[in-house]
Amino acid sequence: MTLFLRLLFRNRLAGFGAVVLGAIVVLAVLTPVLPLHPPNATDTANRFLRPLSEGHWLGTDHLGRDLLSRLLWGTRLSLAVGFAAAVIAAVLGAAIGIVAGYAGGRTDNVTMRGVDMLMAFPYILLALAIVAVLGPGLMNALIAVAVVNIPFFARNIRGVTVSLAHREFVDAARLSGLGHIRILTTEVLPNVVPVIVIAMSTTIGWMILETAGLSFLGLGSQPPQADLGSMLGEARGALITAPHTSVVPGVMILLIVMSINLLGDGVRDALDPRLRSGALARPMPATLVDRPAPPPPTGDGLLRIEGLRTDFRMGKRTGRAVGGVDLALAPGECVGLIGESGSGKSVTALSVMGLVPSPPGVISGGAVRLRGEDLVGAPYARLRALRGNKVAYIFQDPLSTLHPLYTIGEQLAEAIRVHHPVSRADAHARAVQLLDDVRIPNAARRAGAFPHELSGGMRQRVGIAMALANDPDIIIADEPTTALDVTVQAQVLRLLDDLRRSRGLAIVFITHDFGVVAQLCDRVAVMYAGRIVEEGPTEAILAAPAHPYTARLIACVPELGGGRRRLEAIPGLPPAVDALPPGCAFAPRCDRARDACRAGEIALEGATRRVRCLFPVAPPEAAR
Ligand code: ADP
Ligand code: MG
Repeated sequence: MTLFLRLLFRNRLAGFGAVVLGAIVVLAVLTPVLPLHPPNATDTANRFLRPLSEGHWLGTDHLGRDLLSRLLWGTRLSLAVGFAAAVIAAVLGAAIGIVAGYAGGRTDNVTMRGVDMLMAFPYILLALAIVAVLGPGLMNALIAVAVVNIPFFARNIRGVTVSLAHREFVDAARLSGLGHIRILTTEVLPNVVPVIVIAMSTTIGWMILETAGLSFLGLGSQPPQADLGSMLGEARGALITAPHTSVVPGVMILLIVMSINLLGDGVRDALDPRLRSGALARPMPATLVDRPAPPPPTGDGLLRIEGLRTDFRMGKRTGRAVGGVDLALAPGECVGLIGESGSGKSVTALSVMGLVPSPPGVISGGAVRLRGEDLVGAPYARLRALRGNKVAYIFQDPLSTLHPLYTIGEQLAEAIRVHHPVSRADAHARAVQLLDDVRIPNAARRAGAFPHELSGGMRQRVGIAMALANDPDIIIADEPTTALDVTVQAQVLRLLDDLRRSRGLAIVFITHDFGVVAQLCDRVAVMYAGRIVEEGPTEAILAAPAHPYTARLIACVPELGGGRRRLEAIPGLPPAVDALPPGCAFAPRCDRARDACRAGEIALEGATRRVRCLFPVAPPEAAR
């Protein structure tokens, strides 16, 4: 609740709406105890007094009644009627929607067609018809406005319920033997309530307007009772001669509807869990950069990551996901980036092209140089020209990166046409060629397949084809084989290796599996808690790991035919990124750690093999 309020007030406009509406509601509630003239007391001697007259702050109307008093009593009534109508419409509409959406089939069809019929009438005509049948009066106007708005709620809630009714947790509840009523009340309803609240908060203003409209036409509140609509209606005759009589209720309606709508938008945003984590801001097109000054270049090469630091700033907490990573990539080289889950591999990879979501991500130091050009803080247009064109990504789960409604051929062609002005036919031909390159059998026909028609291994091949579409120099593959079984994994790795050799691709291969690194990578960098702890040629590191962490990671890999060796898990857990220990982050889990390890910064030392450890496992000569 406090979180909700905090989020709500972080949105300035919503806070403003809340304050204005709050003030109006307080006034309306206090109206009976305020020292006001009686709202219906006429005084024809003092007709049309101007505002700020003696005894009448807002003046008087055509019967000499005090406008301030009528305004407050009228506001009270209009708010009450609008709110009541919204509640009635929401409850009835939601009930219809939930039942229709949950029951499905004929019940759904019959009720929703009925609702559609209601919706087919222009709403004001329908409201007029209802009032005509029931007779004029505020109560009947309320009923009319509520009825007219039921279809809106019913349709919305039905849509949400339909998508919920077959979700796994509802199926699970059904399988566990719960009855329909229990499922509706405990499983479906709690998920629908936020939608109802949101729909209500955005429509109350509308309903107040509709009620005012009916009163304006003389079909709502009856004289002498004041509500905002009838006040406007009565003032119509004197619009020119005594404009204040219409301006006063008009401004009040404006204030109420505006404040409710601003507040409603704020409520919607604050209740939306997707917007919650990043507060109310949506991710920006490129990661925010907040760094002192780029470090001087330390050499050349295709890609150099130099002292890269990426933080996640969430309120007062700062998590340093990447804490000073140096990594170089030569043309045609394959570098493995390995480490436990959460060690910062993906964030490092995403930082290269400014793809870390901001907020909360911020690149707070270092540089990423592509052929000498610093990409950190490069203009968005420049990054966009490079993304997918010079540097392409392959992600773990291709199904979540492929659009479900387009064929893979169309998606490949689109990726090509983003960066190259080629005709549709040429792009398609190239797409088929790419599918062929990644060894998809019968590529021409497969190009017409949708992502769900392919197996996991096929989809990952499509992901690779997508990355190859613009002939990039660098492919960053983030655990591309983790979701695949071992035989398919072997095929995909072979494919990547072949492509690398035939096209001269440089690859950054992220994985948590030393077996994969051994097959594919020339060099490997081991990451722990956002920093590289050891780096060097794959074979040398596999043969004689220097950092205790590397040694333990290698000991975790089972070997086929390796006998009954005991696999050693690493005790303990990686540290939280917002509470990194001083000194070596691995020290708490390390059996070789001594006091010196916990004291201060430990450098990554060495030439071809570098290690960040005071007491390496392998003898220092081998390690350096
Ligand atoms: P991995 O090595 O498994 O790829 P990541 O690079 O994804 O790990 O994550 C590194 C750290 O950054 C983790 O501690 C994770 O909790 C944190 N992190 C990643 N993405 C976000 C985010 N969007 N917001 C906050 N923290 C994040
Ligand atoms: Mg990852």
